[in-house]
Amino acid sequence: MKCQACSREAQDKYCKYHGRALQGLQEHYKVWEKAYGQISWLDFLARLLEMKETGTWAKEVISAELKK
Ligand SMILES: [Zn+2]
Repeated sequence: MKCQACSREAQDKYCKYHGRALQGLQEHYKVWEKAYGQISWLDFLARLLEMKETGTWAKEVISAELKK
């Protein structure tokens, strides 16, 4: 199957690069939930997408996640 964020061959939903980026996002999400209280996964992603600190890999994963 192909990565949902790029066209690389992937074992899973995402290739290893985007898979790693998604993992980082999930960890970041847990930290945010603790710090700021309830925020949905999609709201969290939408916010990160607007931040310039967010890396390119992460943004590509976010775009793919938000498309669903
Ligand atoms: Zn990819």
